[in-house]
Amino acid sequence: MASFIRKASLKLDKRLRLERTSSGHNVEAAKKGLEEGCLRLSEAISFEQFYDIISDTLRLILDNVSEVLVFCHDASIDKLVSTGSVNHPLPGYGICKQTKDLGLRKVFRILDAHDPLCQLLSLSNHFILPEGNKVLCSPIQDRHTKKTILFLVVICNELTHDSKENLDYLEKHIAATWYRLNQLQTPSVVASTSSELDYESKKILKLCGELYDRDGERLQQKLLHFLQEQLDCQHCILFFVGEDNSIFSHVTLPNRPKCELFFPISTNSFGTAIHKKCPVVLSDITAVEREQLEKCFGVELHNMLCMPVESRSDQSHVIALFCAFNKRRPAASAADSSNTNTPTNTITQNNNYSSSSSVPHTGTTSSVTSATGSAAVGSGASQTVAFADFDAMDEIKAHNTFRYTTTVLTSTIAYQKEKRLKTQTETMLNVAKNLFSQLEDMTELLKLVMQEARNLCNAERCSLFLVNENRQQLVAKVFDGGEATNEIRIPIDKGIAGQVATTGEILNIKDAYEHPLFFTGVDQKTGFRTRAILCFPIIDGDQVIGVAELCNKIAGNSFSTEDVEVAKAFSIYCAIAIAHSLLYRKVQQAQKKILLTNELMLYHMKNLSVDEVTALLSEERENVCEKWPGIDSFLFNARLTIPYCETVRCVLNMFHELGFISRWHLDMDTLVQFSLTVKQGYREGVSYHNWWHAFSVAHFFYLICKNSKHSVANQLSDLETFVTFIACLCHDIDHRGTNNSFEINSKSTLASLYSSQGSVMERHHFAQTVAILNSGSCNIFSSLPDNQFKGALDILQNNILATDLAHHFKIMGKLKEMAIHGYKVDDDKHHEMLLCLIMTSCDLSDQTKDWNNLIEVAESLYEEFFNQGDLEREMGAQPNEMMDRHRAHIPEQQISFLDNVAIPTFQLLSDFLPETQEALDEVHLNRRRWDVVKSEVGDRNIMVKGKLDIKHLDVDRLLREKESEAANNSSPDTHNAVDTHSGSESHNSTSNQNNNNTSQNCVANSKH
Ligand SMILES: [Zn+2]
Repeated sequence: MASFIRKASLKLDKRLRLERTSSGHNVEAAKKGLEEGCLRLSEAISFEQFYDIISDTLRLILDNVSEVLVFCHDASIDKLVSTGSVNHPLPGYGICKQTKDLGLRKVFRILDAHDPLCQLLSLSNHFILPEGNKVLCSPIQDRHTKKTILFLVVICNELTHDSKENLDYLEKHIAATWYRLNQLQTPSVVASTSSELDYESKKILKLCGELYDRDGERLQQKLLHFLQEQLDCQHCILFFVGEDNSIFSHVTLPNRPKCELFFPISTNSFGTAIHKKCPVVLSDITAVEREQLEKCFGVELHNMLCMPVESRSDQSHVIALFCAFNKRRPAASAADSSNTNTPTNTITQNNNYSSSSSVPHTGTTSSVTSATGSAAVGSGASQTVAFADFDAMDEIKAHNTFRYTTTVLTSTIAYQKEKRLKTQTETMLNVAKNLFSQLEDMTELLKLVMQEARNLCNAERCSLFLVNENRQQLVAKVFDGGEATNEIRIPIDKGIAGQVATTGEILNIKDAYEHPLFFTGVDQKTGFRTRAILCFPIIDGDQVIGVAELCNKIAGNSFSTEDVEVAKAFSIYCAIAIAHSLLYRKVQQAQKKILLTNELMLYHMKNLSVDEVTALLSEERENVCEKWPGIDSFLFNARLTIPYCETVRCVLNMFHELGFISRWHLDMDTLVQFSLTVKQGYREGVSYHNWWHAFSVAHFFYLICKNSKHSVANQLSDLETFVTFIACLCHDIDHRGTNNSFEINSKSTLASLYSSQGSVMERHHFAQTVAILNSGSCNIFSSLPDNQFKGALDILQNNILATDLAHHFKIMGKLKEMAIHGYKVDDDKHHEMLLCLIMTSCDLSDQTKDWNNLIEVAESLYEEFFNQGDLEREMGAQPNEMMDRHRAHIPEQQISFLDNVAIPTFQLLSDFLPETQEALDEVHLNRRRWDVVKSEVGDRNIMVKGKLDIKHLDVDRLLREKESEAANNSSPDTHNAVDTHSGSESHNSTSNQNNNNTSQNCVANSKH
């Protein structure tokens, strides 16, 4: 019934038939089938054979084929027509038409009963696709006209990756064979004119039959071998025209290393041959080119036939240059040595046949012979080879050969290039995956980079340099897979690597010793012989971050253009990996720091004595006022009155006394843990900025709250008061006994974390406080409502940062303004500034205490200062006078500090909180006490072995005497001389008078 459907008699090799199993397609059998099919295609001389082979081969390479239809373009009616006994045109609608219009292969899972293809296949409306079968429609187009020349319909199983690849390859061969067969049917001008060429044509046809390899190199070798025989010459070579204005060739000769020849063509005679499509002779090419060719072949060159090879489809396009060298003289004429200089008759004729050249030959074809003469003597003394000139016949032979082989040659090379690119992409992705798995360790990453670079380009060695921008150097830490014992540094502009680093251009050096920048010293030292170098930059963005240098191609003279391409692609991944590794390292460091802080905190937490916690929790809260009478007075000296072991209990009592526990529903367990942890957060080895300092600062705030209850309540919120008390406790946590400028100058870790924002230590104190709050059992803010929690942290940060005196000086002007114009309770900025002032005052509150306390504080403070001064001196820096134990003049410095910092601060504080006047008075008194000390000790260094050597002085008696004397004189000049510091503009004489009265009282008090 379906008589027009060609039931191909499967001329299957029995062996192949056996290898195909019903359960699945045998990959090996398909591969063999494809090779067989291609071989048969190249031998086909009629279209009947051609269609049979297509059908057979499709059945071999595709899985479970039940039908094959081949439509071929019929030029007479310009239609695709089915091949076979009945010629049916390709259906004008349905899936065939759809695929043809699309121009791409398509697989259909369902075949509609109304599709004309369905009727074509079975002549019935009940055609059913066999189970698992699909309809494959594949148009084969003319590459240039995009016209469909063949159309395949196959009923088979779904295409696998392999069968797709095989089908691609087969279709290329089908197209090539179609062209060839069409040409065979057109009588050749040359073949018809010469019986000899008729014979040649048969030989070429035989050659075509042999060109079935999927490997372009093997195909090329067959072709060149054929031409070498036909032209009777020593060597043939095919240069392909590259995309970058160059020609290149890979030459593989027996017993010789594989060699890549590469010539730029913009200026030389190879270029002329390509552009003008005319042959060139040996004397036309440069000495360097000739030398390279001779080196590659290992013989001296005597003559050359070099002609362009045009594309079959586009004759304006030259795809390659064919060169033949050293034509042997036929045996008969070689014997006739007397006649060697006479060219043979054939080559003196002007050759009209040269379709390879649009420009007619300008001279005789003798121009294709070498200038060295038609015969020459070989280099070996034992054997004499005579050479003849290439003649017109040679040119015709070569031309005819290419006429029939270019299509298969170019399609195979294109296929190979595609395949190579695919493999290269896969390799690169793999390399990238490897590189990105090594980001944590820079050394390992660099080792891997070198290893991958070596493998990719098949190099013997690799060195890798990273660019050090600051020092303008190239640095190599890792060498050839191993670590260098000493890192090697070279100036950034020296040598080959230097040139690549500075220009960012790849250098592919065929012979290192001939390169002016190559340094032979290393070879001499190591005994390694450098031949070729491929040196490429690793570029991140537009910056060269490194240079990789590959040495010596394994099994080759030098690195190829492909290696250069691979290196370019590879360097991109390298750059990303290296840049990420550097970033990763930074992130890691930051994480380590965080970890360290948390560990430190945990350490403190673990060290909390359970007994201590339990004891503090179980004890009844005592009334602090009852236990330590006077604790609510500004004159109370906490440092000297409360024992160290009682300080935390005292803090808890202050929390209670100030109403924080009930107001904020503080959990006692949390509060105890928090207070103990904060205490532990202060370093014991630090003589001044330790827990005592934190405790006394917090106590002073307690005093403010107690004594200025109404002023505080009127001006600050409950939350502000609560957080400020906590800020006082925490404001110097983990102080190291050194100040901000020391941290910055010594480039400490803390400075690297915070110096860009300023207030290095204060930021650290805040960070430590947050770390304590973050450990669950210490979070006394956990009971705060969400909206107040964030506010609490902001106040905490603001208050702790305010204890940087630099900040205090910055806002001093605004504080004064606020004092003059009045505090606005609804202005957040005013709240913030008042809190800053309160924090500074609390921090300086030692100055409001009695003389004994002051001496003790001064001793511990100067011990801390001098320790820092000693450290600075060790580091080769000159400490400032205050920190220098040999130069510090304590009374003078204290007076200056009181005048410039403490007095203005407490003065302002009393403006906002008048009840603190008492504290200010005490500061004034201390100022006068230091004055007395100063006049008593003169320039003497009063710090002896960590103690102030002034305890023998009865400072208060001396002051009393001095002041009564002044009062007797009642000279305003003398009075002012004593009290200039307190003479701020806003101070009237009445308050001065008050000061004096209070100080008299205090002096009297301190006598006890
Ligand atoms: Zn402090």
